[in-house]
Amino acid sequence: MAHHRTFDLLSRLPKVDLHLHLDGSVKPETLLELALHQGIDLPVYDREGLIPHMRVGEECGSLIEYLSKFHFTTRIMQSGEALERIAYEVVQQSAEHNCKYVEVRFAPQLHRNNGLTVEETIHHVVEGMKRGQRDFGVRGGVIAICMRNHSCQSNLEVIEAAAQFVGKGVVAVDLAGDEAAYPPEFFREVFAESTRLGIPVTIHAGEAAGAVNVYEAVTNLGAVRIGHGVRLKENRSILEMVKERRIPLEMCPISNIQTKAVSSWEAYPIREYLEQGLLVTINTDNPSVSGTDITNEYRVLSDRFGFTAPELVKLIMNGVDAAFLDEADKLLLRREMENEISSLGVSL
Ligand SMILES: [Zn+2]
Repeated sequence: MAHHRTFDLLSRLPKVDLHLHLDGSVKPETLLELALHQGIDLPVYDREGLIPHMRVGEECGSLIEYLSKFHFTTRIMQSGEALERIAYEVVQQSAEHNCKYVEVRFAPQLHRNNGLTVEETIHHVVEGMKRGQRDFGVRGGVIAICMRNHSCQSNLEVIEAAAQFVGKGVVAVDLAGDEAAYPPEFFREVFAESTRLGIPVTIHAGEAAGAVNVYEAVTNLGAVRIGHGVRLKENRSILEMVKERRIPLEMCPISNIQTKAVSSWEAYPIREYLEQGLLVTINTDNPSVSGTDITNEYRVLSDRFGFTAPELVKLIMNGVDAAFLDEADKLLLRREMENEISSLGVSL
């Protein structure tokens, strides 16, 4: 009975998701339809059969293996129509889990095989999210990703295009890809440009490499949030810096276990980070690759770490504090969430 009540509460609590990749959030039925429509070959042509090609299991060995799953979805995401539809469906799926706000990230340069410009890719994702917001009432923002294995020039194009959409759907820029092979110091020139243009920066760091990458991301790339940061615990002074500067960590528990950012649930530092006063947030990363959703992330944390309802609410509201929203919109979102949480009988 108690478990059922918790389950029900977790799905009903209003939530936010700040770290979600567009190409890791494709519904298998959508992939199937788009592939048929576009004449793209698939290994199988049924929804169930596609799932193993799109998803990693417990046996996933590394971030590299995890990232290999994205080639499968990006192939069918080369038209404006496909980008718009998938962005719209991400908002729809967020609404199904009572997410009130979602930040969706994608790498424009990975969607240009059929001739779209960087600006066009961003335009279509923004449009899909706007339509989703109208239909499902979920607010959102787009984060444009620079890729670690791309050239400086290619990444600068992303920054410059993103700048044109600030205030019109784009809320930040990011750096993603193989962290171990491409440390953040390679990208100082790229993110100096985002700083010059006044675009907020979040960086994937401390996931597949150590805490020193978090230090570099914050001090030299201008990161005001960190993607994952799981390995921050390896360096006490860097952890203290992140805490003092109130840099939010976008943690993605299921993904972090699958990519081996930590060796096991026992080693997952979520409770210690929360108790040490770090601004920890909970996110999905890639629902269709990880086989998860935002309710499931909270459920696993609740089961594994015994988080109480007030602790779960604290994690949720950290996400509101960390959102790339201006103060007025953040206040509105906070009030809406607090009212709904109170109406569920959970104290704030
Ligand atoms: Zn990510």
